Amino acid sequence: MGTRLGVVVEAASAPEARKASENVIREVERLERILSTWDPLSEMHAINTGEVGRPIAPGAELAFLLAEAERYSRISGAAFDARIGALVDAWDLRGAGVVPGAGALLGARKATGPRSISVDERTGMVTRHMAAAWIDTGGFGKGAALRAAADRLDSASVDRALINFGGQLWAHGRADKPWSVYVAHPRQRQRPVARLDVHGVSVATSGASERFIEIDGVRWGHILDPRTGRPSPAWGSVTVVSADPLEADALATALYVMGPKAGMAWAAGHPQLDALFLEAGDGALTASWTRGMEQWLIDRPVSSTPHSQTQKEQDANHR
Ligand code: ADP
Ligand code: MG
Repeated sequence: MGTRLGVVVEAASAPEARKASENVIREVERLERILSTWDPLSEMHAINTGEVGRPIAPGAELAFLLAEAERYSRISGAAFDARIGALVDAWDLRGAGVVPGAGALLGARKATGPRSISVDERTGMVTRHMAAAWIDTGGFGKGAALRAAADRLDSASVDRALINFGGQLWAHGRADKPWSVYVAHPRQRQRPVARLDVHGVSVATSGASERFIEIDGVRWGHILDPRTGRPSPAWGSVTVVSADPLEADALATALYVMGPKAGMAWAAGHPQLDALFLEAGDGALTASWTRGMEQWLIDRPVSSTPHSQTQKEQDANHR
């Protein structure tokens, strides 16, 4: 999936810890072989290059994942939609980047979304309707792999472990021994601005500061707004905490696309996930978070904590 995997396991003995961590790596590799859109041998690649107009039944696991991705697209009003492959190509997001001309953008938008590829939410059956259309698993693949890996830790009765897959975490453990994780300033990744003490959940952050393309001095993020066909503006970051890593992954991307205001309103109506928005303006960081986030939040980005509201945090508060 073109990213790094870090695994820390605490166990009664070194061989047990080693075995558990190797199982995690194997599980992530297994999901990668199914989902990778970089690997020409993956099952996802076969579907993405399959005959136009012919329905394809993916294997059970992929079918389940694609149906889930479809559901997140529906409930997010298409802020999340994995059927953005044609736009990834048009903006050359996997290369040096290019701003597409009006004609190319229009063509790519047509080859995007539900009309370009249908995914049956019940069966996961996939039909590509246009040659340029393909499913980009980048918005939920890490979460899918983390969930599978977390299940392996569960079945091996590992007490405590932390998996870091390309910045998304799975914190395996108990309430009495949580993991402390830090949310970075969206513009200065070395600078922690909030501490979360978490266990039994995944923490996913989406932002445009780390991965972007730069064309003529303008930065374009790697998160696309499927509704406009354009990269989302670089407003900051959103961190999502959920017991389901795939949900955390997909919805962090969705909330990023919605932006801090609409995203906050959406998250407040979906209490199964907790969200922290960091909006980076000129010199100031504006933080907002859902009520549920308060159970994890130890060092808060602002001194007082009105959930579902925003507060300005001047840089000076941090020194
Ligand atoms: P990262 O993978 O960098 O941690 P995200 O989880 O937000 O960040 O996923 C971004 C990736 O998801 C992009 O690189 C792209 O492959 C894919 N993607 C971009 N925009 C969307 C979107 N609106 N819906 C679904 N997937 C997206
Ligand atoms: Mg994501």
